Amino acid sequence: MKDSRLSVIRVEYPTRTRGAQFRADVTAHRDTAHVLDLVLPLECGGCGAPSTRWCAACARQLTVKPDEPHLITPRADPGVPVLSLGRYAGVRREAIVAVKEHGRADLIAPLALALHAGLERLLMWGVVGTPLVVVPAPTRRSAARRRGGDPVTRMARAATADLCDVDVIQGLRLRAMVRDSVGLSGADRQRNIAGRVKITKPIEALAPHVLVVDDIVTTGATASESVRVLQIAGAHVVGVLAIANA
Ligand SMILES: [Zn+2]
Repeated sequence: MKDSRLSVIRVEYPTRTRGAQFRADVTAHRDTAHVLDLVLPLECGGCGAPSTRWCAACARQLTVKPDEPHLITPRADPGVPVLSLGRYAGVRREAIVAVKEHGRADLIAPLALALHAGLERLLMWGVVGTPLVVVPAPTRRSAARRRGGDPVTRMARAATADLCDVDVIQGLRLRAMVRDSVGLSGADRQRNIAGRVKITKPIEALAPHVLVVDDIVTTGATASESVRVLQIAGAHVVGVLAIANA
């Protein structure tokens, strides 16, 4: 086996922000799926180019521009700013699908890099302040288990690893009876999710500023319900940040 294939175990992304190196260290996040990566065919998770897991062209397309993330207005309005790093299309969509549906845990790192840049923008703009608690939007537990752990939580942990006073708390879960939202209309999604998001961590741990993070915001139903239950529990929710909006 060539050395290049083994290099996915540890991938470093240099950034100039805060003079620090953002390190997307796959092994640091107890990523048990990385062993599987080594036996998958080596191709770019964005465009399918051979001999690379994530090519330079796809990396450029996920680069967060100076005016991003953008404010979006999902149909279900959570009452706090909802921001997205880009449309759920192209290589962004391919990478998210590859992580969620095809177990490409190696693509958590490039998605986390984009999320990291988005978080830094929000901190810089003052949209969010510190200390900040990032709460991943809930995933169905069975689905998360199948995929080797909740990918949004793993992205959030990798994205915030070098940010001061920013913690990730996996404090929400969906009650078991929620159906997978794939194929449901917007109204059905909202009915499907209403009253089903549950807080699993003491609210003191979630204070004072909470940002809900999700991979894709579609109708906004999950984001709205997450914000609602956090607010009812007393959390000061400052916004929602998504890697993509559909
Ligand atoms: Zn590519």
